Amino acid sequence: MAMTVKFTLSKRAQALTSSAIREILKVTERPEVISFAGGLPSPATFPVQRMREATDKVFDEAPHAALQYGPTEGYTPLREWIAARHSKNGVTIRPSQVLITTGSQQGLDLLGKVLIDEGSKVLVETPSYLGALQAFSLFQPQFVPMRTDEQGIVTEALTAEQLQGGRFMYCLPNFQNPTGRRMPLDRRQALVQRVTEAGVLVVEDDPYGELSYHGEQLPSLLSMNPDNVVYMGSFSKVLAPGLRLGYLIAPEELHGKLVQAKQAADLHTPSFSQRIVYEALQGGFLDRHIPEIRTLYAHQCELMLSALERHFPAEARWNRPAGGMFIWVTLPEGIDTGALLAQAIEQNVAFVPGAPFFAADPQVNTLRLSFVTVPAEKIEQGMEKLGVLVKAAVAA
Ligand code: PMP
Repeated sequence: MAMTVKFTLSKRAQALTSSAIREILKVTERPEVISFAGGLPSPATFPVQRMREATDKVFDEAPHAALQYGPTEGYTPLREWIAARHSKNGVTIRPSQVLITTGSQQGLDLLGKVLIDEGSKVLVETPSYLGALQAFSLFQPQFVPMRTDEQGIVTEALTAEQLQGGRFMYCLPNFQNPTGRRMPLDRRQALVQRVTEAGVLVVEDDPYGELSYHGEQLPSLLSMNPDNVVYMGSFSKVLAPGLRLGYLIAPEELHGKLVQAKQAADLHTPSFSQRIVYEALQGGFLDRHIPEIRTLYAHQCELMLSALERHFPAEARWNRPAGGMFIWVTLPEGIDTGALLAQAIEQNVAFVPGAPFFAADPQVNTLRLSFVTVPAEKIEQGMEKLGVLVKAAVAA
């Protein structure tokens, strides 16, 4: 006789839900679907040969160390490389501030673990990265949504009440997921000053900063006040996401706590992938590789913008990103992009509705398009189909 095992879920787990959108998007894995939904980097950018050579080198030179347990903080030479790369604009980052994480997604979880109690105030952009909202939600914070415009967080609109007692402010200054927006220099300076004065820690999530199409990069929030900013970086968008390699740069007192939380979570990030990536980075590889990614993405972005102009109705609005992977589209009020997605999938094309990216008061007439995952020739085809549906929805 089969036995039923009884278990009681934690309150935390009871609150977990699988989003309806995720369920719908599962079908986008079918090969016939042209999906602008996923945040997947273009596989054409993965440096396969370079990774193969780096792996061979690791096996030739340090096979046992690469297959052994390692320190929780991460592989020291990789931490030194990261600290050196971020030591610019007059700021010195020490390797002791760097913690290698299993993807920057783990960094979000660790920050939630060490900074959020039930009901703690966490300030987030409107909209913000869905994966961060999910990671933080496990610790049951009270999200405080911050007003944004085309240039990101509207610093002047932040009230003392919003900032009061905030555990941290989660910011995406470069080519934000989901909107593709970038915060200009004066906004960054004003924001860091305001938030530091208010005694609120800044968390800067920056997986897309290097993907500035025209090459110019704005100073990080980290560089403006390393004592009050936790910076999150990732190799997912500049090498490959399957490596699961990211990092946190944190003030030393907080770093120690994050290390303890990471030790409890997974002891350390795989020694193997850390050593391979370290080898792959040698000789300035990223400085040759990243421009290739930028060129490809800038081209695909142009294709999508041109398709939007030709196929979408005049009532739709969107931004022209200067980097990253996403375009944010706002349709007229009254259109629900969740319903539109169901129709789109019937036509074998997909996008992500905007609503889940809002911590509160979702704008259901918004959607996110990724222009990097689908190869160039499919962008036009998919956008044409989507345009027909959007026009019909606007006319209805
Ligand atoms: N932050 C943002 C803003 C992201 O878009 C992503 C990936 N989509 C992550 C963090 C997580 O990246 P990873 O874990 O691959 O480093």
